[in-house]
Amino acid sequence: MERILVSACLMGRRVRFDGRAKTVDDALLAGWRAEGRLVPFCPEVEGGLPVPRPPAEIEGGVGGAAVLSGAARILTPEGSDVTRHFLSGAYSALALARSMGIRIALLKDGSPSCGSLRIHDGTFRGSVTPGAGVTAALLEADGIRVYGEDRIAEAAEYLGELEATL
Ligand code: SF4
Repeated sequence: MERILVSACLMGRRVRFDGRAKTVDDALLAGWRAEGRLVPFCPEVEGGLPVPRPPAEIEGGVGGAAVLSGAARILTPEGSDVTRHFLSGAYSALALARSMGIRIALLKDGSPSCGSLRIHDGTFRGSVTPGAGVTAALLEADGIRVYGEDRIAEAAEYLGELEATL
């Protein structure tokens, strides 16, 4: 059975920076949960950050790949550099995915870790820009398909393709 790595906050875990969850109420997700496919994970908590914690954004909104290459940092509004925690969490997510043979991830879009299509632009003004977070970029570079919570139907389609080849 194909397992799916899922942002823990989408499954109701209160792990976000503000101490809240971002629970997704979706029939497909509920079905996958009942089948035991879902592997919840929070890269930022796994990377050693507390709940709650200050918000953080990739400087310049340049995307997770730049952070992975050392070209950009992740900062709080006060300028604290929390990059190492984000990197640690991303590599933990990749290690977990590899250990379980995971090929699909469903991650919270907009996050500096989990975002797949958009992230915040580094100004802390609520503005988003196209790009991926650190964990999403690392997983995708390893061939794992990452979908945001508004693309669950596409994830289901890909899941069907993978299972058809098993
Ligand atoms: Fe959710 Fe990912 Fe942020 Fe953790 S790092 S709270 S799983 S979006």
